[in-house]
Amino acid sequence: MGKRIVGFFVFFVWWVLSFQLRAQERPTIVQRPITWNSTREDLSLSYLEQRHGIKSASVEIVPKMVVVHWTDVLSVSKTIRTFDPVQLPGRPGLKKASLLNVSAQFVIGRDGTIFQLLPETTFARHTIGLNYCAIGIENIGSARYPLTEAQLKANTALIKYLMSKYDIQYVIGHHEYQAFQGTEWWKETDPGYFTKKSDPGNAFMEQLRLNLGMQQSIVAK
Ligand SMILES: [Zn+2]
Repeated sequence: MGKRIVGFFVFFVWWVLSFQLRAQERPTIVQRPITWNSTREDLSLSYLEQRHGIKSASVEIVPKMVVVHWTDVLSVSKTIRTFDPVQLPGRPGLKKASLLNVSAQFVIGRDGTIFQLLPETTFARHTIGLNYCAIGIENIGSARYPLTEAQLKANTALIKYLMSKYDIQYVIGHHEYQAFQGTEWWKETDPGYFTKKSDPGNAFMEQLRLNLGMQQSIVAK
């Protein structure tokens, strides 16, 4: 074999390997869109303005973080039915802050099936102070029903895929979100508006960040 052929072969092998390392395969995602209409759009825009202090003409977000949750509701269909209405049905404390219903871009079932409720870059109300830049992943589970191995795998695959598309700087559990209070990331006009969260817990987040090759410390800059 001539030198040029060897050179080309080496280049070709490098090209194939590096392409495989860079390209993050999109996991299988089942589409289950929730209601999106002009009321949801208007309520999202006023949430952005009144809560986050961001006056925008669009509900598009630039994802910078992923927040992982558990639902406390133990079925996918019930969770989607909860997120589907445009306005919050109960929860007076949350209602006072905004009438926009809570939701998330993704829900993961206990068997690891990934459901998409909203486009990745469409605003969703799931984490006080951070919705404007955070993609939310809800997992079917609770303190009594900790998240499963299949959910860990699915979260890993989905977040790797999101990290290959967006400049994701943090992957946090909802229970960790208050670490961002007092940083430039935190955008909430009422300093007294926050709720204490325990989902999905340290054990799950540590394993997830290990799988993603991310640092455990989430001290925000
Ligand atoms: Zn949560």
